[in-house]
Amino acid sequence: MANSQDRSQGRAGGIASSEAPAINTFTGNRALQIEEPLIFEMGQAGRCGVDLPEPPKVKDRLNGMRRKGDIGLPGLSEPQVVQHYTRLSQKNYAIDMGVYPLGSCTMKHNPRINEKVARLPGIGDLHPLQPVSTVQGALELIDRLAHWLKTLTGMPAVAMSPAAGAHGEMCGMMAIAAALDAKGERAQRKVVLAPESAHGTNPATAAALGFVVKPIPANDRGRVDLAALKAALGPDVAAIMLTNPNTCGLFESEIVEISKAVHTAGAYFYCDGANFNAIVGRVRPGDLGIDCMHINLHKTFSTPHGGGGPGAGPVVLSAALAPYAPYPWIVKNGDKWSVAEDGAKVDGVPLGRLKAFHGQMGMFTRALAYIMSHGADGLKQVAEDAVLNANYVMAALKDVMSPAFEGPCMHEALFDDSFLKDTGVSTLDFAKAMIDEGYHPMTMYFPLVVHGAMLIEPTESVAKEDLDQFIGALRSLTERAKTGTAAEAFKAAPLYSPRRRLDETLAARKPVLRWKPSNNPPGSDPMKQAAE
Ligand SMILES: *Cc1c(COP(=O)(O)O)cnc(C)c1O
Repeated sequence: MANSQDRSQGRAGGIASSEAPAINTFTGNRALQIEEPLIFEMGQAGRCGVDLPEPPKVKDRLNGMRRKGDIGLPGLSEPQVVQHYTRLSQKNYAIDMGVYPLGSCTMKHNPRINEKVARLPGIGDLHPLQPVSTVQGALELIDRLAHWLKTLTGMPAVAMSPAAGAHGEMCGMMAIAAALDAKGERAQRKVVLAPESAHGTNPATAAALGFVVKPIPANDRGRVDLAALKAALGPDVAAIMLTNPNTCGLFESEIVEISKAVHTAGAYFYCDGANFNAIVGRVRPGDLGIDCMHINLHKTFSTPHGGGGPGAGPVVLSAALAPYAPYPWIVKNGDKWSVAEDGAKVDGVPLGRLKAFHGQMGMFTRALAYIMSHGADGLKQVAEDAVLNANYVMAALKDVMSPAFEGPCMHEALFDDSFLKDTGVSTLDFAKAMIDEGYHPMTMYFPLVVHGAMLIEPTESVAKEDLDQFIGALRSLTERAKTGTAAEAFKAAPLYSPRRRLDETLAARKPVLRWKPSNNPPGSDPMKQAAE
């Protein structure tokens, strides 16, 4: 710990040296922090990085509707393009650059072996419309992953096609709606219970399917209030949607009793399994009485998913819901693999199709590579290390920051803002100051049940010395905030990032969506003129 603090002090000293005179550089750059214009503001119109042949003269088939003006493409040489995007990439904080306390929900380390396997010829270049006889290995791969998911969750069936967690929720809740329909109870059971700490996608899914969402409060231990849940259960309830471990990073310790109460009331138990990484190999959701659960392959089993995709959200189903699993699924006849598609003769009453083709093949491949490279023992260790790392952070910070709940956590350490009381520093200020320390801030202001929440998920793959430096930075910021005289400095943070604090309201209300076209009209391009 001492060692890592030395390191971080050394670094801060290097940057903040107050003796260095401020200089206005000619370029506006500050050493390696290079001001980067938009690509449309660069270069010269008409310049091109490749040597394209003159297009052949063709007869106008557009009835004279020809473009009169310039097309307005940026004109850059190949090195200019490469340099532009490389410089932009260096402004991003990335999972490959350092500790990323947002955790698996946003990004965790993606072992490179996954990428290697996903790009193997015969996997990376498959086409979904290839004849089934040419993709036997791919079908076996999907089936093998399905087998792992059923085994790890202790559930008899899995629908592989949903394309993300929220899509999986839709699939599972549609299966529940179909099961209620089959019992003639769909009209009567309109209510879906969602704990206050639920991920926003839970109530959204229920509402999208026409259910009425009823919130269930949390108790002072950050778990579902069992008495309130029991009081809300009745003949009008279709299901509960519960996240376990929940969004406060806590195991729902009364989950078995919750499941019994829900089933006694004739309702179904949907579990949001996005946090499966905290319990994989240790707990089988099937043993807890869960009827269906989506698994975010892109979270638990790694694979890059920043920037909106792709993901994969297979849903495991209990025996009661398995008959409603959507098409398609993989079938083995002798030694031949095939796909049960819409209209196949099957037992059960499939929901139909939720997605074109078979699901997210690239994600399936990466997830299976992750699972098989860890093995059963390694997966158990993933959960143990994820929980150990979060508890290490919790233990190392609980005397200076304020844990939201007492006791150990699962894979996430949750703090509230009470340690900042009367300092004039807010959760947001604290997070911005972390940027100056070289860290991407943790999840802030979520879950909503905790005031000024700061949710830290280190994941299983961060090294102890890196965690120590992260902890050292947070302790140092906390101490500075608590001096009571640092509020102004915190409000000014970040100081060292390419951009300072932005007026986010103004940016949202009055976005600047135009660029200055390059001042260099076509014809003025010296490179082009030289060529002519
Ligand atoms: C991420 C997440 C979801 C939604 O998953 P997507 O793949 O983003 O659709 C749902 N619930 C919880 C608890 C999550 O963390």
